[in-house]
This record gives sequence, C-alpha cells and structure tokens, in this order.
Amino acid sequence: MNNEFHHRWVLASHNIPKAEELRAMLSPFKVQLNTLTELNIVKVPDESGNTFRENALIKAKAAWSSTGLQALADDSGLEVDALGGLPGVHTARFAGVDATDQENVQLLLKQLSNQENRKARFVCVLCLWDGSLANYWEGKVEGKILMAPRGLNGFGYDPVFEAEEIPGKSLAELEPQMKNKISHRAAAVQSMLASLDSI
Ligand code: IMP
Repeated sequence: MNNEFHHRWVLASHNIPKAEELRAMLSPFKVQLNTLTELNIVKVPDESGNTFRENALIKAKAAWSSTGLQALADDSGLEVDALGGLPGVHTARFAGVDATDQENVQLLLKQLSNQENRKARFVCVLCLWDGSLANYWEGKVEGKILMAPRGLNGFGYDPVFEAEEIPGKSLAELEPQMKNKISHRAAAVQSMLASLDSI
C-alpha cells in the first residue's frame, strides 16, 4: 500500500465514473480505493436483492471474497413517484440486462411522456463489509425528471435529472465538484465519514 494511505478498500464495482466520484469524495481521507477492474476481478454477483441494502451487501461480500480486502459497495438508483418508486433496484437494467445508459434513459422518458408528476429521487446505499460486520449509510437527492437529456458530464441518468437544490440544470450540466456536493452519493459518503472516526 502506498504510504499516503492508511486503508486499502476494494470498491465492489466496475463503474469508472462511480469510482471517480467516490475517490474525489474520499480524497481528503487516507483510503486507497481500488475497483474490481483494477484488481482483475471479472466475476460479479447477481444483484438479486429486493432492496438497495440487500444488493449492496451482496456486492460487498463478493468483492471481499475475491480480494480479502475490506469492501465498499455502492448500490444506487432512481425512484420515480409516478412509476410507484420504479425503477428502484432495477435502475441499471431498466431497459434490459445489457441496456446502455441511453437505452435506460429513453425508456424512462417514454414511460413518463404523458406524466405531469415528474418528481423523483436518487438513492445511494453504501455498505462496508470487513468479513464479519456490515455497516450501511444512505443518501438521497430529491428532484425531477426532465423532458429530454441535457449536458455531457456525469453518467447514467444524470442528463435527465434536475436536483431541487439546483433548478434549471441537469446533473450532467453541473461541474463534477458541484454534483459531488449535492448528490445522493455525497450524502451517503458524508454520513459514512461522520461515523468512521478512525480514518
Ligand atoms: P448499480 O451500479 O448497480 O448501483 O446501478 C446504479 C444504476 O443507477 C445505474 O443505472 C446508474 O447509471 C444509476 N445511477 C446511480 N447513481 C447515479 C448517478 O449519480 N447519476 C446517474 N445515474 C446513477
């Protein structure tokens, strides 16, 4: 481990933009975060849970088993009021198992095409698994689904989500530093850091 770091964690994900956001948020702390890709772990578990928590634990346990490292998992998604809280845990595979972000976004816009109620929120659950104990932290950002994609930053559904806190811009139109202050992931990380006093 590099000397600047006190902890080495595996991030139970292959999602590069997600890892970049988490690394930026954790940069003031002494945690080295390696993705599964960086550790040459190809196998990922089925996200068969019914809740973000269950899926976060499934991912964290699998990453720990493959690496022996303390494992951080981020399970996140979008809850849309007019769709009864969907896509929820199905956010990543809304338009099918191998759906691209664009396909997922297009399906969401189609399902909301006649909807006036566009209220939605992003939810992020973090789970840290050390081989025997799981800790969880949750963050949310309230907002609405736009009529069409806007902006080039971020990932996933960012181009169609406008946060209540920053009206007039999609998350994909924000500078990364701004998204990382207000996002569901930022809220979950802040809550995690507040409870991990040894970092
Ligand atoms: P997970 O990687 O299994 O947790 O799936 C998360 C799903 O929610 C993916 O479709 C992501 O694109 C989407 N998602 C999670 N966080 C964000 C975000 O910060 N912005 C946009 N989409 C997100």
